[in-house]
Amino acid sequence: MKRIALLGATGSIGRQALEIIEAHPGLELCAAASGSQPVDGLAPLTQAGGDLTDLLERAEPDLVLNAVVGFAGLPATLWALERGVDLALANKESLVAAGELALSAHQRGGGRLIPVDSEHSGAFQCLEGRSADQVHSLVLTASGGPFRGRVRDELDDVTPAAALAHPTWNMGPKITVDSATLANKGLELIEAHFLFDLPYDQIEVVVHPTSVVHALVRFRDGATLAHLGYPDMRVPISYALTYPERSATPIPALDLAGGMTLEFEPPDLETFPLLAHARTAGEQGGTYPCAFNAANEVAVAAFLEGRLPFLGIADVVADALAAADGSAARDLDELIAADEAARRHVEEALKVA
Ligand code: NAD
Ligand code: MG
Repeated sequence: MKRIALLGATGSIGRQALEIIEAHPGLELCAAASGSQPVDGLAPLTQAGGDLTDLLERAEPDLVLNAVVGFAGLPATLWALERGVDLALANKESLVAAGELALSAHQRGGGRLIPVDSEHSGAFQCLEGRSADQVHSLVLTASGGPFRGRVRDELDDVTPAAALAHPTWNMGPKITVDSATLANKGLELIEAHFLFDLPYDQIEVVVHPTSVVHALVRFRDGATLAHLGYPDMRVPISYALTYPERSATPIPALDLAGGMTLEFEPPDLETFPLLAHARTAGEQGGTYPCAFNAANEVAVAAFLEGRLPFLGIADVVADALAAADGSAARDLDELIAADEAARRHVEEALKVA
């Protein structure tokens, strides 16, 4: 029996994970947590809000599924990595913000780090068992979000409701807005850099509107492996929870003869500059990715509250990056300071605007 601690149990990933765990006799939920919504009765140990590592200490899980949204998921990520407890990671923000600290904790702990993000789950499966020097490049696909094909002028008065109408994935509000701005793909670019130890110039992003191909790996011999499937997060969630078993799920097999065309195009970085900002922040390294993430979190929240226009999200993130110190964090306190500085910068900019 694999004992699972599910953090972010009330969210989009959390609810789908509950479904997978319930249907699998080899998986047992030992703990469940949320930010504030009630989780009583979901698991023997539950916690709403507060320091989730307290819950993890008590629960002694075999695997942590971190499906918290945002930087708030960082303590749980570090807790699992440091202790060598297997970590199924949906909370990409923690790896983006804390990349080097997280990787060294992972090295010390020695547990498994299995991505839940669909693109990274796909890439992980294409890469499995192969050394990085066999890889020519990794390709992450992006749906392009609800505003694909539009130009900047057409995004002036975009409402939160319009940004929340994602064409292919049904997700929590923060990641849905990130998908509309392409910040999500920027976070995923940095996530992939840390997960797969690949330099940024070996990671490409392409727009693929139907989200059937999740990732591709081009190898040095000219072969390319791709990961395909209907866009349904229960597949990567199940993969991560049951690894290496690859248990059955209710998701149907891919129907090719029914008619399927796979289209790819380059991302429009002029209209969706957050992807380019993320790449720059990733290449600059240090705490620039942390600042990118923090500024974006505050900007997205402000957009959803009607305090910032859609195009303003990229503007305030760019400003926060320009103002950031960026030097590498030697420990968690320094990382938290970099996160807070970027948040403050955006809050100040919002007050002035
Ligand atoms: P969501 O908003 O639906 O759910 C977030 C969950 O986190 C909720 O249970 C909430 O209570 C909890 N939470 C929020 N703040 C917290 C805090 N301070 N402490 C503890 N718990 C807190 O979000 P989601 O769409 O399920 O996304 C969760 C994570 O998974 C994000 O990092 C997202 O980028 C990633 N992800 C989601 C999807 C998807 O399809 N939804 C796909 C890929 C990756
Ligand atoms: Mg993804």
